[in-house]
Amino acid sequence: MRYKKLAELYEEISSTTKRLEKTKILSKFLKEVNESDKEVLYLLLGDIYPEYNEKKIGISNQLAIKSISKATGTDAKEIVNEWKSIGDLGKVSEKLTKHKKQSTLRTHILTTEKVLENLRKLPELEGKGTVGKKISLITELLTSASPIEALYLVRTIIGDLRIGVKESTVRESMASAFFEGDKEASKKIQDAINKSNDIAEVFSAVKKRKLKDLEKISLETGKPIKVMLAQKVKTIKEGFKALGKPCAIEYKYDGFRLLIHKKDKDILLFTRSLENVTKQFPEVVEYVKNYVKGKSFILDSEAVGFNRETKEYQPFQNVSQRIRRKYDIEKLQKELPIEINVFDIIYYNGKSQLDEPFKKRTALIKKIIRNHPYKIIHAKQIITGDEKKAEEFYKKALKDNQEGVMMKKLDAIYQPGSRVNTWIKLKPEERDLDLVIVGAEFGKGKRSGWFSSFILSCSDGDKFLEIGKMGTGIKEKSAEEVGGTSFAELTKMIKPFITKEHGKRVEVKPKIVVAVTYQEIQKSPNYNSGFALRFPRFTALRPDKKASQVSRLKEIKKDFEKQKRNWRYG
Ligand code: ATP
Repeated sequence: MRYKKLAELYEEISSTTKRLEKTKILSKFLKEVNESDKEVLYLLLGDIYPEYNEKKIGISNQLAIKSISKATGTDAKEIVNEWKSIGDLGKVSEKLTKHKKQSTLRTHILTTEKVLENLRKLPELEGKGTVGKKISLITELLTSASPIEALYLVRTIIGDLRIGVKESTVRESMASAFFEGDKEASKKIQDAINKSNDIAEVFSAVKKRKLKDLEKISLETGKPIKVMLAQKVKTIKEGFKALGKPCAIEYKYDGFRLLIHKKDKDILLFTRSLENVTKQFPEVVEYVKNYVKGKSFILDSEAVGFNRETKEYQPFQNVSQRIRRKYDIEKLQKELPIEINVFDIIYYNGKSQLDEPFKKRTALIKKIIRNHPYKIIHAKQIITGDEKKAEEFYKKALKDNQEGVMMKKLDAIYQPGSRVNTWIKLKPEERDLDLVIVGAEFGKGKRSGWFSSFILSCSDGDKFLEIGKMGTGIKEKSAEEVGGTSFAELTKMIKPFITKEHGKRVEVKPKIVVAVTYQEIQKSPNYNSGFALRFPRFTALRPDKKASQVSRLKEIKKDFEKQKRNWRYG
């Protein structure tokens, strides 16, 4: 397909903020896309591969500037100045392409295949001369690009497409294009996306207009899937009301979600944001090899840190650094040991277990895993309809340093990627949120050179909305010296994501998710969420979460209301 066609679609979709309009435009486009062009759907979501594939374009603004400079014959300094005034590197590239001299006029027609071919070479490059090769690959595309193509090419390579199309928009558009917007079809499309995490594969099935083909899309070991999520209640009573009696009650461990795949001899570990973390946890691979029976399987579990001497469970923030750290793994493994608590099985010996009842899945776990405390165990579970027994179990979980309990319906199927009403979470009233950093400010005095305060945003589903500024809870000394996260570390993480600078303040791409506690939520005109957190305090990085998974404004409004009620009644 000509890249121009896609660029024009981006342009049309960007011209409206209305979701329904976007769906209409996209559905018309999808009808015209041939099966052989299905990979344009990756580009549509700003990607080059399906979501489960970890290879990302990963080009910095600096490298993009160098490429634009080479392609348009413009001095890099001039590009930076333009960027400062326009605030969008894509637009800068569009403008400069328009003004390009006659002699450098385009010679080739750009196709989506060529764009994918070049962009897919980028993450493969390693070693000497990488930067130069990357610039050449991008420049080759930019020199063939028309102004509007240059605009979207640059936005794609820096990972900031800005057309307001999410996976859900594509799902709705596919349902509307091929099944007249049928609700059942839309749900089946979403199921297929959740199982495969491959929008192009789903498109192929959808294009045939047969629901049967969609249903055939299933799990594969070795390919990460989205996890099932729970709804919240405030009391055991409410939990029973939602699920019926009896139900299963499990410890809600304070760790991080780990999906364990066994495919032939290979064991692979993924986080809930589909990141492959196998290298970071070599001991887990050994536990699975030694203590879990089966040729192939996918297990759902929570990894929890514990103290090697006292054997006490540790809070999540203590072990969170193990998720991202790619060096000193052996050392970290000794200092921050983890225990795997398996609570579900999604696939076993060539067969999906998604549609089996929860009770049966749990029985299978017990059959194939031998408990080895502080290595790998079945999640602690009781099955009861007795409220007193449930309360006791809840108290025990809290005493054991865990977050609370999960209540689960005995006949529930496993629905990847869905927040279901068959899984319920219960934890004591607490005030904490997961938020994403969208801005930062350089510090003064001994904090100069670091960012020392951070603008945080929640989400309303479509947009990120600011809700406060945080500066406490972060360490001045390095993490090695005192534990926790330091200003230097956070500054280093933020720098590649800067999109705009205004003196000491910078705007940042929403990438880094942090857990934050606070004392109170107040109404506030200072932030576009309409709320501000009083005394927000950093507690941990959440490298296991994507920006799309931060706390929703809806929940924050609820917490605000609840807080008011509590004051009223003392
Ligand atoms: P959510 O995961 O619902 O988006 P969150 O990240 O804030 O929200 P919690 O509210 O703490 O997480 O609760 C859900 C998480 O609890 C699960 O994603 C999982 O990581 C963890 N968990 C711990 N123990 C269990 C268990 N026994 N069964 C299922 N999940 C568990």
